[in-house]
Amino acid sequence: MNNTTQAVTPRVVRMHPADNVAIVVNDGGLPTGTVVPQGVADGLVLRDKVPQGHKVALTDLAPGQAVMRYNVPVGYARQAIPAGSWIHERLLDIPPARALQGLPMATVRPARQEPLEGLTFEGYVNADGSVGTRNLLALTTTVQCVAGVVKIAVERIERELLPLFPNVDGVVGLEHTYGCGVAIDAPGAEIPIRTLRHISLNPNFGGEVMVVSLGCEKLQPDRLLPAGSFPIHDAREKDQGPDGVCLQDDAHVGFMSMVEHIVQSARSHLERLNARRRQTVPASALVVGVQCGGSDAFSGVTANPAVGFMADLIVRAGGTVMFSENTEVRDAVEQLTSRAATPQVAEDIVRELGWYDQYLDRGQVDRTANTTPGNKAGGLSNIAEKAMGSIIKSGSSAISSVLAPGDKLKPDQKGLVFAATPASDFICGTLQLAAGMNVHVFTTGRGTPYGLQACPVVKVATRTDLARRWHDLMDMNAGRIADGEITIEEAGWELFRMVLDVASGRKTWAEHWKLHNALVLFNPAPIT
Ligand code: CA
Repeated sequence: MNNTTQAVTPRVVRMHPADNVAIVVNDGGLPTGTVVPQGVADGLVLRDKVPQGHKVALTDLAPGQAVMRYNVPVGYARQAIPAGSWIHERLLDIPPARALQGLPMATVRPARQEPLEGLTFEGYVNADGSVGTRNLLALTTTVQCVAGVVKIAVERIERELLPLFPNVDGVVGLEHTYGCGVAIDAPGAEIPIRTLRHISLNPNFGGEVMVVSLGCEKLQPDRLLPAGSFPIHDAREKDQGPDGVCLQDDAHVGFMSMVEHIVQSARSHLERLNARRRQTVPASALVVGVQCGGSDAFSGVTANPAVGFMADLIVRAGGTVMFSENTEVRDAVEQLTSRAATPQVAEDIVRELGWYDQYLDRGQVDRTANTTPGNKAGGLSNIAEKAMGSIIKSGSSAISSVLAPGDKLKPDQKGLVFAATPASDFICGTLQLAAGMNVHVFTTGRGTPYGLQACPVVKVATRTDLARRWHDLMDMNAGRIADGEITIEEAGWELFRMVLDVASGRKTWAEHWKLHNALVLFNPAPIT
């Protein structure tokens, strides 16, 4: 061993005392011959170079023996693996998915946690009681055909009108690829339609949404937003329905008349939005969607456990936390059904995950299609290992209810909610927006510049190395947990306070740079 490798203290973490693997913490990994000095792996000598975030065998493993991480099997050894070896995905067989029959239903009663009183943030209170964290004008659209016109209208509104209305945070064109050329009555088509409807009702839009349509499309405005679907409005507007501009109207002569019509229609909405002020509201008004993307082996060691601790704090404060990502919880289904608050909630979990199994089956894949090359390079061997690190984001509360994709939370749906969505970052984010999310918390280990235009996204890095390189993209560094600087509990509290600050108007890095991804609808129905 040379002086360079002697200079760093080798560090590994084991998630559970029963685990027979540990994760290498050091930047750049650890070289062959490293003596791992501390704690769980006294005197262990590495037989291979082990990259950062990857697993090292703590004991000799026999062929077929379970590789235990988080005290659950994340794979089975394909061959004998001596202690000190690097365990990568080519040495493991993935455990089979748990059948959805015979699961423990609402069998675990999580200990009641002490309520958190007196915590508040500054938000925009809507007529329906929901609370926005941003004050945005949304232009919803029925079909992709209008997207180019809406983009130009939004640019004009930003340039000409927004300076007149300083209390409005921005203008959002809700662009998407749906609306025509689709089998609109096919099973599953209701998912993209209700997703668009419910995004229009997101608390950050204050009920002032406008609808821009083409005229001849399948998704007509009254199907997107049927009469009475605007409970967020006051009675006057409920009667009138949402304000609409139809590009094929005879009144439009030339392109500029369409743009002018949209810009002028925006004015009255901006006036009402501009009159709103933030006011002090209880933390119970938080609706936080949690998600991970670009995950590595540290996701389940640092950032996701911190998010889980934060999730428990939000539940204790009376708020709502949504966790999602079907393929990343599927391998932990019995942990979910057992933690359901009631047998009905457990059945709802089984229904949603069973539907998703069938959806994947129709495409001739299964949950193992989830892991990416980056996940594997980051030390996640397979979806079972990724799932165990992902589900920690949900914390330890009982699961109080379940949302189908595109569903919107009802006012009484508080606590920990399983919003069943695909794990794809943009699709999950889009569906959580539809559910009524007002702050998004997103963890990443490999790094992604992810953002949403409709809602602030707090990004949490799993590793100090990523947080250092992406210092102006990551809002928090949970890698300090692996570095031994802070505990999971301290990180959870820090994140919770940051969420309250962001809900009150503090900008995230993604907002600072105006970074955002497109809305991406989940459409399981055919395209025509
Ligand atoms: Ca994701």
